[in-house]
Amino acid sequence: MNLATPKSRPRTFDYESLYRQQAPALQALVQRLYTNSPYYRKKLTAAGINPGDIKTVADLARVPLTDKWELRNGKPLDLMAVPEAEVVRIHSSSGTTGKPIIIPYTRQDVTDWTVMMARCFNQAGVSKHDRVQITPGYGLWTAGIGFQAGVEYIGAMAIPTGAGNTAKQLEMMLDLQTTVLTATASYALFLGEEIQRQGFRKELALRTGLLGSERWGDKMRRRIEELLGIETYDIYGLTEIYGPGIGLDCHYHTGIHIWTDYLLVEIIDPASGKQLAPGELGELVITTLTKQGMPLLRYRTHDLTRLKVEACPCGSRFPMIDRVLGRTDDMVKIKGVNIYPGQIDHVLQHTPGAGSEYQLILTREQGKDRLQVKVEFLPGYEAADVAAECRQQIKTRIGILADTEAVPLGSLPRSEKKTRRVYDYRNV
Ligand code: ZN
Repeated sequence: MNLATPKSRPRTFDYESLYRQQAPALQALVQRLYTNSPYYRKKLTAAGINPGDIKTVADLARVPLTDKWELRNGKPLDLMAVPEAEVVRIHSSSGTTGKPIIIPYTRQDVTDWTVMMARCFNQAGVSKHDRVQITPGYGLWTAGIGFQAGVEYIGAMAIPTGAGNTAKQLEMMLDLQTTVLTATASYALFLGEEIQRQGFRKELALRTGLLGSERWGDKMRRRIEELLGIETYDIYGLTEIYGPGIGLDCHYHTGIHIWTDYLLVEIIDPASGKQLAPGELGELVITTLTKQGMPLLRYRTHDLTRLKVEACPCGSRFPMIDRVLGRTDDMVKIKGVNIYPGQIDHVLQHTPGAGSEYQLILTREQGKDRLQVKVEFLPGYEAADVAAECRQQIKTRIGILADTEAVPLGSLPRSEKKTRRVYDYRNV
């Protein structure tokens, strides 16, 4: 028996072959939407598209994009593409702005999502011998129940604490000797700092974290890993497309593998909508190949990333996107330069003494844009030095002048959900 790994793996990912494999499912999806979804039939017809016209990923460029407002505008369930009798559950996206979006799931949708989530746990090395604490919320939100389904599928033990009550979370983590944590990255940081404050990290059994729900930079990642003593995996997903678990990085941590047997991913220029080639930075657009309850054609995620040109050393058949670098909505134009929070993460990595947390504050004074960046400095460093170095790094790496201020570690707000980083007061 030859267990040796192949001498050389391909260095670049074969997108052409992937797109060839996806073509039949894409054709079937467009046909299915045309037949079963009055909403998409109208939309495709208005764009002059017959279902038979869309055969390849390149043809998709002709298909109009779908944006969040479309799911929110009409009646709930307007985009449902099956008879209601086939729907077994709904979830809802967090309605921070406007009406929440209602997403119907068929039994098959729930199964497919469970399989994707189980694949995430497998890829992170989680097995039936693990105890997995699920700290995201249950209920209308997709996260809690999604993680739980994956945990049960692989046969691990779910500890469904749900959101909030940090004292209780820590007690369970300690008493039950939780080995795997699932959480938003912000909450993992929050828990890590609390554990450090109380000083009982050595009594915990944590070894792995599946964290996500927001963009979190490498510096924040390192800090969470140090505080909790774990290896972290970045889990990707959005409520409109199943929920968390549609992709995860592997042990090599070179990008997030996306489950392209269920989903077709493209990158577009967020301004022009033009399809971009692998390697180019733009907005991730997802088409659900197999979803039944509410399939989506070219759904705009507003997440900034790129398709990785490189094949992963792990040899996975699934391509990778870069870790999300920011939101197109968070991209701010200042002094004619587009900047997004991911660039500040990058700056902080190159600023000795800087922590992982930061805020961008934009104001306009006498017709001129002003960017203020607040960062935290680590113990043992001088605030003035860290602020000066940060200012220099922003100038060198992003090409703009910013006012920087360094505040003591722990002074910027932590959140149990998503941490707000951009404060734009220019049009207030
Ligand atoms: Zn990999």
